[in-house]
Amino acid sequence: MADLVARKLPLRHPAENPTFILMVVLNFVILGVLIDFLSSIALIPPALRGTNWEAAWRAVAGAIIAVAPAILIVRQVQRASIRGTAVRLSRTQFPDLYASMDDFAATLGVKPAPALYLSNGNGTLNAFAAQSGWTSNYVVLSNELFANLRNDNREGTRFILGHEIGHIRLHHVALWYSLVLCYSQLIPVLGPTLSRLREYSCDRNGAALESKGELGLVLLTAGRYAADNVQAAELVDQGRHLGGFWVGISQLPRSHPWTVRRIWRLHQLGLFGPAHVLNEAHHPQEIA
Ligand SMILES: [Zn+2]
Repeated sequence: MADLVARKLPLRHPAENPTFILMVVLNFVILGVLIDFLSSIALIPPALRGTNWEAAWRAVAGAIIAVAPAILIVRQVQRASIRGTAVRLSRTQFPDLYASMDDFAATLGVKPAPALYLSNGNGTLNAFAAQSGWTSNYVVLSNELFANLRNDNREGTRFILGHEIGHIRLHHVALWYSLVLCYSQLIPVLGPTLSRLREYSCDRNGAALESKGELGLVLLTAGRYAADNVQAAELVDQGRHLGGFWVGISQLPRSHPWTVRRIWRLHQLGLFGPAHVLNEAHHPQEIA
């Protein structure tokens, strides 16, 4: 599998890095402006100097600057809460899933392999990758992504796992990455745009590792109770025709691209195999 994946590298959306560089530049511009607000009166309009407005502007600048140290704390608190509420997988705890993670990490050159946790999810379909400390990477999967689904949604879960390890491989969860974007990522539209590009990149990683994993995205689209009955080929076709002005506008504030489009993009890139009928026992005309 390693050779197969290597042929598909770099597995990154071509617009991700240019957008990232733009956002880093903006981040340092914002930091410079914030420091200027705190250390001089050059940017404060003359009419407002010495008034309550000057103090208010300084307080806001100080609060925004505090986002950087807050990131350090949030990372540690998040990891601690995961350790207390989720099951850590091992060679004897969900060994299949653990082996997939180990295998994928080795294939993508992620060393050491991240810790993997299984969370309750409380009904939400969720998974994420994160880091605590300087290098302690981990992935959390909600059990809703596979529990009681057909064949445990094996390939779909592997796709999602590969997607999350992709976030680690591409440094999206690294401390330095969070810090160089900590201010610019708060900018409406721009922050979500880079986030969506990251998701597209990680989808490429997931699909390169599991080319039959489209059920993972079908599940996010249709929900766990209907996913098995979705005709994937029709959904791919729906993605092919998804476009236009309002689709573009509706995505602007979103951190994730529309799932239907994600499915189509991976088929378009040839990373998912031909769309298949996920459950041949459930043709539409057979559903009363
Ligand atoms: Zn993601």
